[in-house]
Amino acid sequence: MLARTLVQKLPIGARAFSSTCARNAAEVKRLGVVGAGQMGLGIALVAATKARVPVTLVDASETSLDKGLAFADKLLSKDVAKQRITQDEADAARALLQPTTILEDLDSVDFVIEAVPEIPSLKFDIFSKLAEICPKHAILATNTSSISITRIAASTTKDPNDTSNSSRVVSTHFMNPVPVQKGVEIISGLQTSQETLDTAVEFCKKLGKIPSISKDSPGFLANRILMPYINEAIICLETGVGDRDSIDAIMKNGTNVPMGPLQLADFIGLDTCLAIMKVLYEETSDSKYRPSVHLRNMVDAGWLGKKSGKGFYDYQ
Ligand code: NAD
Repeated sequence: MLARTLVQKLPIGARAFSSTCARNAAEVKRLGVVGAGQMGLGIALVAATKARVPVTLVDASETSLDKGLAFADKLLSKDVAKQRITQDEADAARALLQPTTILEDLDSVDFVIEAVPEIPSLKFDIFSKLAEICPKHAILATNTSSISITRIAASTTKDPNDTSNSSRVVSTHFMNPVPVQKGVEIISGLQTSQETLDTAVEFCKKLGKIPSISKDSPGFLANRILMPYINEAIICLETGVGDRDSIDAIMKNGTNVPMGPLQLADFIGLDTCLAIMKVLYEETSDSKYRPSVHLRNMVDAGWLGKKSGKGFYDYQ
């Protein structure tokens, strides 16, 4: 109800209206997820366990699919062990995950969520293909952390006046780890229709999430606030204001968060953190968003955090 009220308060001129429309959330009978990494896998698993919809899970890499599904098995076993779900429910959810390396297998989804790496050209390419492959009623959502939704929507059409594809593009920006974090940011581009936005809000509620509405502005809400905080922590480390443990301890114990900023950066992925800081810096031309040199160096070294085995902490 709150989310719907907020949706209605967004400036009307900023939203396109289209007759080609996405269905309502109850009619989402099949979800597509593109990218089976940390975020995509989490989204697929939540859809299978909470909304109980079949999920076509696409990844360009067989290895990533295998790794993702092995991780899904581990999370489901943990849920069974902790009696959060029964073995039958876990088996049913697992059977709903249908892996593939073929993007064209998304030809029967009602809603698709893209979660490939934060590379603008890659997302634009995928959205131009999704607009062709997915049924015309399907909603095309992105999990981007920082790329303009308006720009992603624009990649679905060659004619800006034809909004039949761009009006069904929206962002459902889930938080990491998806099965745990309740928050999700719903961001509309300039072309996004009201029905698309409403359906995205309702579908995320079906996944057990609490949506917040944000405008299409660099970093949206969550990362506009979170990333400069993480970046500043890395600058404190690089300039010797404090060591790793002191930085994380004071924020953890002083602000009652589950982990400090450096550990959080490792969990998010340092490449993702750097990509978001670059967008904030370049899109606003504001020096307060300058990415830390040490963060750049860590990424250049291939030390990306938990996913690569080494970041500010060691995960080998
Ligand atoms: P990741 O690197 O863990 O996973 C990306 C997956 O996409 C990989 O499995 C890769 O094989 C696959 N992929 C690459 N190219 C592909 C293609 N052409 N087609 C299909 N699959 C392809 O990345 P992630 O951390 O899951 O991030 C995904 C998205 O979610 C990014 O846009 C990121 O900014 C956003 N995001 C990340 C976090 C986070 O904390 N990691 C939080 C919110 C949003």
